[in-house]
Amino acid sequence: MALSMNPTDIITPTSLHGLVAVVTGGAKGIGLGIARELAQAGCRLALWDFDDAALEEARRTLSSEGADVSTFKVDVSSVDQVEAAVARLLASHERIDVLVNNAGIGGDKLVSKMDLAFWSRVIEINLTSQFICAKAVLPQMAQNRFGRIINIGSRAWLGNRGQAAYSASKGAVVSLTRSLALEYARKGITVNAVAPGIVETPLFATLTEDVRQSLHKTVPMDRIGQPQDIARAVRFFAEPGSSYITGQLLYVCGGRSLSSPSV
Ligand code: NAD
Repeated sequence: MALSMNPTDIITPTSLHGLVAVVTGGAKGIGLGIARELAQAGCRLALWDFDDAALEEARRTLSSEGADVSTFKVDVSSVDQVEAAVARLLASHERIDVLVNNAGIGGDKLVSKMDLAFWSRVIEINLTSQFICAKAVLPQMAQNRFGRIINIGSRAWLGNRGQAAYSASKGAVVSLTRSLALEYARKGITVNAVAPGIVETPLFATLTEDVRQSLHKTVPMDRIGQPQDIARAVRFFAEPGSSYITGQLLYVCGGRSLSSPSV
């Protein structure tokens, strides 16, 4: 681990090598891409996901690529499960340096057809889980005076017809990010957000060819994003050297944030 001592005897990392990174929703899609990128940077990984089978497949794949990876079956919207996962990880790895709040669900429904249960579920998984996971790891990060939290938002926070719950959850991710950044600014912890555009994941693959084509047409760069595109932005925020950047939102969307939100 590349570490150097500071005057208060707290070990401050100088690179990602050897740091412990939690990636929620790390079993598939963007989360798996982020896990791979952080592993290539030398992080020791903990993947938290509630999809057991996908977790096992991710563990096998990443291990075969040389990653140091632990997997935990966790529903990140459960305080008890998240606290138990933090305790287990600290028992085995002693520190948590990076938290990537990536787990999320889609939520396409017009408000006129949406009931409270649907709204609440989207908010709970996409927003409240980020609060739960951050709150669970922050005391340990504050004690080490080092931490990186990266919240995955979405370009959809700008507003999309038929995505009120999803957009609202992702808009609140931006507010949560900015508020946490301020609260922990003097503790060596940065909190930033990444807003993907359209990314090729298992979710995207379930769309019809027509829908995929029409979405493709809305991307100024004329290509659908890959998990690795998002992962590179996450790695940038996770780097110890990015220590003077906090509370920021970085779009990774091929220029889509520059065009009309209602597409
Ligand atoms: P995905 O469905 O492919 O993967 C999400 C992962 O999160 C899955 O492995 C799932 O099991 C896990 N997960 C969901 N809810 C969970 C919970 N409560 N507890 C634990 N694990 C849970 O999705 P994706 O496309 O890779 O999306 C990842 C993130 O990126 C989400 O936050 C999503 O909103 C955001 N995003 C995706 C896109 C896109 O085009 N794919 C665009 C913008 C933002």
